Amino acid sequence: MSELTVRAPAKINLHLGVGAPREDGFHPLVTVYQAVGLYDDLTARAEPGWTLDVGLPDWMPAGAVPTGGENIVDRAADLLAAHHGIERSGAVHIAKAIPVAGGMAGGSADAAAALVALDRLWQLRTPDEDLLQLAAQLGSDVPFALLGGTALGTGHGEVVEPVEDRATWWWVVVPSEFGLSTPEVYRHFDEMFPDAPADPVPADALLRAIADADAWTLADALHNDLEAPAVDLRPELGELIETGEAAGALRGIVSGSGPTCVFLCGSADHARSLAADLSGAGHPVVLAANGPVAGAHLVSYA
Ligand code: ATP
Repeated sequence: MSELTVRAPAKINLHLGVGAPREDGFHPLVTVYQAVGLYDDLTARAEPGWTLDVGLPDWMPAGAVPTGGENIVDRAADLLAAHHGIERSGAVHIAKAIPVAGGMAGGSADAAAALVALDRLWQLRTPDEDLLQLAAQLGSDVPFALLGGTALGTGHGEVVEPVEDRATWWWVVVPSEFGLSTPEVYRHFDEMFPDAPADPVPADALLRAIADADAWTLADALHNDLEAPAVDLRPELGELIETGEAAGALRGIVSGSGPTCVFLCGSADHARSLAADLSGAGHPVVLAANGPVAGAHLVSYA
């Protein structure tokens, strides 16, 4: 195989329970992830040497994604090559569509896509368990980006367990022009909630709603402990959620650490009409996406 493309999805957190930081500074999490149909595509071509470039849609600010050693794909390539004791090589192109620094784990999606693509390109046949371990070293959300679907995440989010989810959920996704730094949102969480419980809020209600496969029940059960600090840092997010709910969304929430907001709808038609209403209300980028969808997967090869 001399060239292949792997597609990896964005995530939203249907439930994000955050506990008080532990001694190592990490916040314990109980989260329910869902992979939604908004994807980055990573193409890897066999070439001597190593190059990495990034293509952005015109609605993303130029330079939003680093192309050197700071790019998480660069680290993923190094880690996989070191795991097998080989030199990395190839020409990698990332076509971004997942909002950057948007709380949708776009970088994590790219890292997962890189692990899958380079494992194939370099013909390594890395066992899934090893890939999951490498993924966890790259970031808390990377194992989920490999797995996809709907999953329960514990630890820092890196311990993932699939959740049976037979429904198709419809979302309207509204990115913000400017990203929010995840560490900044966690710092603000600590300031706002100095007495946060050691153990995060469990996801029982959310898991029951998924089992019920009812959109109204899910709307009631959505939970995000990072919403209050994200909205406090960016009050316009609170206004956006009110606008979306007034326009008929079953519920609007901040996605992960934000600033992207997602709105649960009852059907594909409902999502399309809400997306049109929010576009009409002056939001320049409004996307509709369904979930759950597959994790990082091969879409073409030559
Ligand atoms: P999370 O929800 O996992 O905290 P996020 O969705 O808020 O992440 P990302 O889009 O993953 O944020 O990007 C966070 C930062 O990582 C960006 O500001 C960017 O500088 C850096 N970065 C490194 N590699 C990438 C990549 N491949 N795609 C996007 N950002 C990247």
